[in-house]
Amino acid sequence: MTAVDAAGSVLAPNYHPLPVTLVDGLGSWVTDDEGRRYLDLLSGYSALNFGHRHPALVAAAHAQLDRLTLTSRAFDHELLEPFAARLAALVGPLVAGPPMVLPMNTGAEAVETAIKAARKWGYDVKGVPADRATIVVADGNFHGRTTTIVSFSTDPDARGGFGPYTPGFRVVPFGSVDAVRDAIDETTVAVLVEPIQGEQGVVVPPHDYLPGLRALCTDQDVLLVADEIQSGLGRTGTTLASELWGVRPDLVTLGKALGGGIMPVSAVVGRADVLGVLTAGTHGSTFGGNPLACAVGLAVVALLETGELQARATTLGRHWGERLDALVAEGLLASSRRVGLWAGLDVAEGRGTGRQLCERLLARGVLAKDTHGSTIRLAPPLTITPQDLDLATDRLTTALR
Ligand code: PLP
Repeated sequence: MTAVDAAGSVLAPNYHPLPVTLVDGLGSWVTDDEGRRYLDLLSGYSALNFGHRHPALVAAAHAQLDRLTLTSRAFDHELLEPFAARLAALVGPLVAGPPMVLPMNTGAEAVETAIKAARKWGYDVKGVPADRATIVVADGNFHGRTTTIVSFSTDPDARGGFGPYTPGFRVVPFGSVDAVRDAIDETTVAVLVEPIQGEQGVVVPPHDYLPGLRALCTDQDVLLVADEIQSGLGRTGTTLASELWGVRPDLVTLGKALGGGIMPVSAVVGRADVLGVLTAGTHGSTFGGNPLACAVGLAVVALLETGELQARATTLGRHWGERLDALVAEGLLASSRRVGLWAGLDVAEGRGTGRQLCERLLARGVLAKDTHGSTIRLAPPLTITPQDLDLATDRLTTALR
């Protein structure tokens, strides 16, 4: 017998989606199964930074589908080195040392990879006693859903009921360099942070946080690992959010937009002397760096190489930010945080929950998703037109009123 819920679904109930079924998407717009059109202001949690079905990305995927899709890493293929080299050329100058690239699939896998590399570097290079490595992380973090990653989550929904937990993590308040300093000892191999906490509601730390962590990590011979899976690849108006503070992390995790909204593609990019501790057989993935992923990833890198989309996120974001600030001034929002084309909005008291706002937006043809309680996060495609962004913001205004 098959278990079905009240609506007749056999899907495990680990999501609570908005009531809309999408069938089609192009650019910033999607269409549902009744022909209604919506502006997508979620962009697959920033996986669709280039919009739906970007022609260059779709063309790259189509061409590769007709050639070769999977080799596994048991064999090389013609796009693996070019993808690594182009990604290293884009992101390498933004990390602290000559770069290496390790391709994976999902964001959580990239984070797991960074954790493993940092631990092994700690044992092999730093000389931390076996099985004693610690990593300092921030409260309010979101790094994915694996058992190790939820072990250091502070979100009861993400963590509760999934123990026993992986040891070796110290959670300190986000935004406090002093707290990180206090948590570091001779066993510490890394500090792992999101430069801006996306899932938490686009929470931007104090201006001296990232530079302070960089100086502290350098001083203590601890790796600074920036999880840029959501913040990276143009979202903040820069290729990496870390650039906003002029900080070069030792390792960076990338995902989401790296797959162009077509397929899961992630990577760790960082110091060659750190990723180089991984030897054949110590880490891997059947699909990581597959030909189709590399074809799409190369096309994504090409879109970011000119810097045009990053500049666009900055310019459009400035105007958008003024409009969002006006909603705060009008008392419709309690507060808004915006960086590039990324915003976290706290709905003013008495104007409903984040979920209710998303339902009202849905009814007005805008897709967005609440994060926590009264907070929603907006991440329009970086390719959105100024007119569409204004239209979406007009609709947000009426939904709030
Ligand atoms: N890290 C950050 C900062 C994220 O925002 C996410 C996803 O939202 C992840 C990691 C996990 O990525 P994935 O869902 O692809 O495993």
